Amino acid sequence: MFDVMYKTDGIGLSAPQVGINVQLMVFNPVGERGEGEEIVLVNPRVGRYSKKTVLFNEGCLSFPGIYADVQRPESVKIDAHDISGARFTFDLSGLPARVFQHEFDHLKGIVFFDRMTEEVVESIRADLQVR
Ligand SMILES: [Zn+2]
Repeated sequence: MFDVMYKTDGIGLSAPQVGINVQLMVFNPVGERGEGEEIVLVNPRVGRYSKKTVLFNEGCLSFPGIYADVQRPESVKIDAHDISGARFTFDLSGLPARVFQHEFDHLKGIVFFDRMTEEVVESIRADLQVR
């Protein structure tokens, strides 16, 4: 999955996006092989979202070329398993928290359009229809 992610210039990928129906995601906020940290989360759950939210211009590998603002909590507390099955909890904020929430949505069948305001969806409607 990291191969697909790097090849498409992504920083995160969820298993359902590549046709694998398991609760698994990978990400590396740096987006370069050999740089940053490669994170694999199995059966992730969110323990807590920050009250503070931030806007960020998001893209998605499933919708190439489309970028739009999405409001999300600034930080999250996560409970997950690693690939060996060991359970761990950790906190993410900033870009890693953003990538996690985007991929976490994919695991639940939610895409970033579902998180955009009507106005934002309207602003990219032309791009959506060309596809
Ligand atoms: Zn996506």
